[in-house]
Amino acid sequence: MTRAIFAANWKLNHGPAAAGALVREVLARFQPRADREQIFFPPALSLGAVVEALAGRRDAAAGVQHVYWEPKGAFTGEISAPLAAEAGATWALVGHSERRHKFGETDEETGRKVRAVLAAGLAPMLCVGELLEERRAGRTEEVVLRQLTGGLAGLDAAATARVVVAYEPVWAIGTGVNATPADAAAVHRTIRRWLADHTPPGSRARILYGGSVSPENAAALLAEEELDGVLVGGASLKAESWLRIIETARPGR
Ligand code: PEP
Repeated sequence: MTRAIFAANWKLNHGPAAAGALVREVLARFQPRADREQIFFPPALSLGAVVEALAGRRDAAAGVQHVYWEPKGAFTGEISAPLAAEAGATWALVGHSERRHKFGETDEETGRKVRAVLAAGLAPMLCVGELLEERRAGRTEEVVLRQLTGGLAGLDAAATARVVVAYEPVWAIGTGVNATPADAAAVHRTIRRWLADHTPPGSRARILYGGSVSPENAAALLAEEELDGVLVGGASLKAESWLRIIETARPGR
């Protein structure tokens, strides 16, 4: 069974004390289930506290929100994939829209980061998604495929198959306006077709949706076969709303 992924991107929220307490509370109130896994992406300074709070739970993991592509050296302020792995991360987000649009991260840079993440033995979660004006101009597919091409450049088919893609339309992030389940699924199909041409025959990509996922809309989104999970920002910051999301039923699967 492929496990659904429930990923929590805390952005720049929750220091070590709050992060550790939140994970401990969530895990105490949610018993492991074979059909789903949780991944917490705390701020890097809170990673240690989250890893400690995971206490070896096999259905939960921790990741970093960002890495630099070089493993070490004179890069003041940066963190690297090998250091994240040493600190207990098993995942890394790459290409989140806030990195792309607030920090100017390019497609080429996301490619370097994905390769660095894989080289360090971490699992990359590559975020792609169009701006509102790009959607209105009918350019969603073009933008998403360009971001995939850049983010997965230089990988062979086996390495490409290790990447989880999160489709996050920029206009839906933090706005309270989610993509409709049908619209999300349509873009997922486009991504899945592209990935099918770039991964070994028979492999099934895992593609998540992110953008204003909430306890109220999670069931409708996750009812779509195309969605292998969700990447959640705001609604992952508190135990109550996060628990309601990770408890979402997925009938028939
Ligand atoms: C995100 O930060 O990846 C995200 C999807 O945020 P939100 O759920 O708040 O829209």
